[in-house]
Amino acid sequence: TIADKKVEKWTYSTCGYCSTGCSIEIGTNQDGIPVSSRGVGGADVNQGKLCLKGIFEHELFESPGRGTTPLIRNDFHDPWQNSDWDDATAKMAAEIKRIQSTYGRDAFAIVSTGQILTEGFYTLGKLARGVIGTNNYDGNTTLCMASAVSGYKRSFGSDGPPGCYEDFEHTDCLIAWGSNLPEQHPIIYWRMKEAQEKRGFPLIVIDPRVTMLAQNADMHLAITPGTDVVLQNALMHVILAEGLEDTDYIKANTNGFEQLQKEVQNYDPISAAKICGIDEDTIRHVARLYAKAGAAMNIWTMGINQSTHGSDGVVGLNNLSLLTGNIGKPGGTSLSITGQCNAMGTREWSSCSGLPGYRALENKQDREEIGAFWNVDPEFFPKKRGMAQTDIFPAIETGAIKGLWLIGTNPMTSMPNTARIRKTLEKLECLVVQDSYQDVETIEYAHIFLPAAIWAEKEGCFTNTERRVNIVRKIKEPYANTKTDLHIFNEIAKQFERSEKMTFPYKPADVFEEMRHLSKGRLVDISGMTHDLIEKNRGIQWPYTEEQANNGEQPPQGGKRLYTEPATFRYADGLAKLIPLPFIDNNEIPDEQYPFWLNSGRLVEHFHTRTRTGKIGNNNKYSPTPFMEMNPDAAADLGILHQTYVRVVSRRSDAVVMVMLTQRVPRNMVFIPFHFFDCVNRLTLGLLDPHSRQPAFKQSAVRIEHINQE
Ligand code: SF4
Repeated sequence: TIADKKVEKWTYSTCGYCSTGCSIEIGTNQDGIPVSSRGVGGADVNQGKLCLKGIFEHELFESPGRGTTPLIRNDFHDPWQNSDWDDATAKMAAEIKRIQSTYGRDAFAIVSTGQILTEGFYTLGKLARGVIGTNNYDGNTTLCMASAVSGYKRSFGSDGPPGCYEDFEHTDCLIAWGSNLPEQHPIIYWRMKEAQEKRGFPLIVIDPRVTMLAQNADMHLAITPGTDVVLQNALMHVILAEGLEDTDYIKANTNGFEQLQKEVQNYDPISAAKICGIDEDTIRHVARLYAKAGAAMNIWTMGINQSTHGSDGVVGLNNLSLLTGNIGKPGGTSLSITGQCNAMGTREWSSCSGLPGYRALENKQDREEIGAFWNVDPEFFPKKRGMAQTDIFPAIETGAIKGLWLIGTNPMTSMPNTARIRKTLEKLECLVVQDSYQDVETIEYAHIFLPAAIWAEKEGCFTNTERRVNIVRKIKEPYANTKTDLHIFNEIAKQFERSEKMTFPYKPADVFEEMRHLSKGRLVDISGMTHDLIEKNRGIQWPYTEEQANNGEQPPQGGKRLYTEPATFRYADGLAKLIPLPFIDNNEIPDEQYPFWLNSGRLVEHFHTRTRTGKIGNNNKYSPTPFMEMNPDAAADLGILHQTYVRVVSRRSDAVVMVMLTQRVPRNMVFIPFHFFDCVNRLTLGLLDPHSRQPAFKQSAVRIEHINQE
């Protein structure tokens, strides 16, 4: 009825899909049921707007497939039995203890996500590092942002994107590398277009595919997959050959210039153009546009990160920015556009790759500080980082890992070479899946299922792409017998012996207090923030210190950019590193047997493996099934017709998809969205970047076969 849909109350929150971090209000009716979503006018990030995922976010709360109660079974072939929280958490703790006492502490691994609230991440880190004590704890962010993290650390001495969305309003030149904003981050795209219409800066898109962003670009460089580092080196070659570098900035803020100069001499535009598949004059033209701009930006997403040399690709962009003095100034930055809504929160606070607040396991002082604060003997912490997610699965195959706890992640669809992942999961003695949905594909091999509350059935924070901490307010109580992640972690912590002084607060605001305390004096300083202040300001960018708050400085002063003049980078000498990057060949390239590049990416309607967007009518009905983009000339060569089904075959496995003929892809490439189960990731190559351990999802070779219709 109309009364059922009438909004009685609007509650502030932050969108739970992508890392844009839009401020959202959810409307509830007279019975407290969510019935509407709207953007928050005046919010810095989205200024009242939402994309089509955000606008239907209220439909998530009671969408099909949600878990209702804990489930247990002894073998994954057995039927599930309903359980309760006491029994399920006791069984899980008993399994962890059995595995650790039999095979060693690190034989039980944890893989989490970029989608739970920061207070949950912080508590999970305390549980994993300080109580369970496994060193094999990582996030699924290794599949998307690990190369950005690694590249920032190598160049600047720390993770942390130095720029912000407002930089679009000050830039004179924008280069987007492997980033398709209109589909991946629609509201960032809107911010960028608004700024471009006012300022008229050139938008240059580097992408092998004619993405929606490329369609709207002033220049599109359709380079050969995996040649981005060559192009970066060639741009630097031109900049240095023509004296366009910022000598004063380089001298004052960097080291390694001579080594970089020597390396880029090898990349003249003529030979680089041949490798990249573009023409030499284009390279010169882009180098001049970029270096002569008063302020210039590089942004990137998975096209750079998901590669066997993803970390180098990020360092290359940082090199370009440092050479031209484009760090820490309005409109001049090197900004990774992050994927998941709280991928930044896990980088800052989860302890996946270290300890909270960008602390390192390798650093004795960091271990001692956290040990003292948590009341844990620092000797209990490992002295270096354990396995990344992508190393954990091979370790299951070899028998080094016997138990696995997956939190908000679905490797049966998201990992490369999923046929191998299926066989791997069968080997586990204990698989725990913690998720809001009990129809997530990976549950097939689980022994314990813990049903979690969704995003706005709990309270806490997200951090977005531009370091803005924003608040998620609880819209309604957790569905059925689900619990918040924070509650689940605390209940599991109770099952283990630990120092009585080691506390696990249940209130998110109390957890936030711990994080505030630990952030003081760090790069990621949030000590001036409280949950209420964050909501009042509709998000605050870090760093925002207690001192700033006490001095009455209005947020987000001080937090818009990192490494502003005089720049203090996070290496001991305060300087950034210019790092030479020799070209690394792709491991798999098209040949006679597998003549097409396979590219994968996102659709605007869907998020990740569709556990959420696959249930919502207005998202799913426009992209209900997998498809493959194919160039019409290539299809004609093979006698393949539009909207017919074909078999795509790689060295790993095969998949059946419907063909969409389009000029978006060149003649030697096909593109398949990654959201669908048993589809593109049956085909993808699992080779890893040596620095970040991120897989090369975008550099595989396939052939296309007709399906026998008889
Ligand atoms: Fe949500 Fe991202 Fe869309 Fe904003 S752009 S409404 S954060 S999905």
